[in-house]
Amino acid sequence: MAQTRKYSSPKDPRKRYPKLRSDLRKRVFASQDVCGICGREVDKTLPPGTPLSPELDEIIPVSRGGSPYDIENLQLVHRGCNQRKGAKMPGDNIGAVENPLPVSKNW
Ligand SMILES: [Zn+2]
Repeated sequence: MAQTRKYSSPKDPRKRYPKLRSDLRKRVFASQDVCGICGREVDKTLPPGTPLSPELDEIIPVSRGGSPYDIENLQLVHRGCNQRKGAKMPGDNIGAVENPLPVSKNW
């Protein structure tokens, strides 16, 4: 752990075009209502930082060659689900985040 310098790394393609990412995020948030990982409803009014906060996720992770700017590769997820998923691919066995909130709808 010799290298601890922190600067905006051009190696992270997600940070290359922040405006485009922001626009895509808005489109995904506007068009999707359920978590792409656990399938439960996402409360988009929650502040960032909680396990149930809405987040933008790449279905095929950038580290595996997925595009962070292709709307087809982006989905709405819970922050907690996203953290559990890490860099796994669709089909990998992943658990859903425990939802402490009551579910108001019957699916
Ligand atoms: Zn979820």
